[in-house]
Amino acid sequence: MKNKILQTQKKQPYRNSNDYLQSSTSEDLNRVAERYDVRITKAAIETIRGDVSSDPVALQYLPNPAELYQDHQDLDDPIGDEGNTAIPGIIHRYRDRVLLIAVRVCAVYCRFCFRKEKIGPSAQTLSNDELSNAIEYIRNDRNIWEVILTGGDPLIMSTKKLQSILTQLEDIDHVKIIRFHTRIPVADPDRITQELCDVLSAATKPIYIAVHSNHEQEFSDKAQKSIHALHKAGCVLLGQAVLLKNINDNASTLDRLFRKMVENRIRPYYLHHPDLTIGTSHFRLSVEEGQRIYNEMRRSLSGIATPRYMLDIPGGYGKIDIATPMIHKDEHCNFHRVDDLNGGTHSYPPQEPLADVQDKPSEIQNTDKNSVLENSMQLVHTDTHD
Ligand code: SF4
Repeated sequence: MKNKILQTQKKQPYRNSNDYLQSSTSEDLNRVAERYDVRITKAAIETIRGDVSSDPVALQYLPNPAELYQDHQDLDDPIGDEGNTAIPGIIHRYRDRVLLIAVRVCAVYCRFCFRKEKIGPSAQTLSNDELSNAIEYIRNDRNIWEVILTGGDPLIMSTKKLQSILTQLEDIDHVKIIRFHTRIPVADPDRITQELCDVLSAATKPIYIAVHSNHEQEFSDKAQKSIHALHKAGCVLLGQAVLLKNINDNASTLDRLFRKMVENRIRPYYLHHPDLTIGTSHFRLSVEEGQRIYNEMRRSLSGIATPRYMLDIPGGYGKIDIATPMIHKDEHCNFHRVDDLNGGTHSYPPQEPLADVQDKPSEIQNTDKNSVLENSMQLVHTDTHD
């Protein structure tokens, strides 16, 4: 694994051949790398196509002095992980599911990550005893229906270790679903080996894999092959993305990303509004901008390609859907106003007779229940003898 990953030395700038990085001093970049780990895979580098100052893959991974800026809205613990940590490695926010954080390292370090302060080689990975305690915690709470292995990136663990965790979770009767959140299929597709797929396909419980990708460009040929291998291994594939300024903050880029996911058998699940993580304000948009982009995007996308637009409430209160409601109740009326995807507004139920109802033959509109039933029975009878 190590020779596949290019990792910066703390005292060196990541790259120095580009205007973008030349405009920042190497001292600035060193300060970023001293505070937050920097790591990018060869596979991710190969998906960078243009100038790194604007390339949507490069901007996700290359350090930026803007990370040293702390905005007044930034929070230490943006989604309340700490308050919901039951024991080391277990975040228990919802009654029927837990996050199991077995590792705190990733194949790549995304500059916008909401756990950026808590991941990297310097962050503590669970000891074997802590991992056993975490599994025991899950075993002892019969409400836990789903276990979500998240990050750090769980697929960075050795296949042997993953197999051991899977076996232990499969042994717990009340755990019905095992979910992984990962960036590896797009960031380090070689890691999706036949050996790993064999372990996943041998699982007796449903394995869901939420693949994190923020731009269509990340779907290299290798990435698509690795996703196909996971699908062939019987995993259910979900897609998640973060709405990021200058990377995917327009409807057509998101449209292409979510279509690409569906074409690769990934069902888009969540589009996350960016969290208030320290050092990430340069990636953030306002909720209003996000809603405008999301509204425009969903106008063109089929239902199977449309994720929900989600906000994680600071303080650990959970995720909510923040897409603009398309239905409104006027308190002075006994009907709703509904917006269609083309900007039209209608009442529900319709307050005017609809043209297609008016056009129906009167005998159909006036048919009583008994005659409908009689006619249906005759049809059933006819079909049986055909
Ligand atoms: S792979 Fe996931 S956990 Fe790791 S840095 Fe990226 S977003 Fe954060």
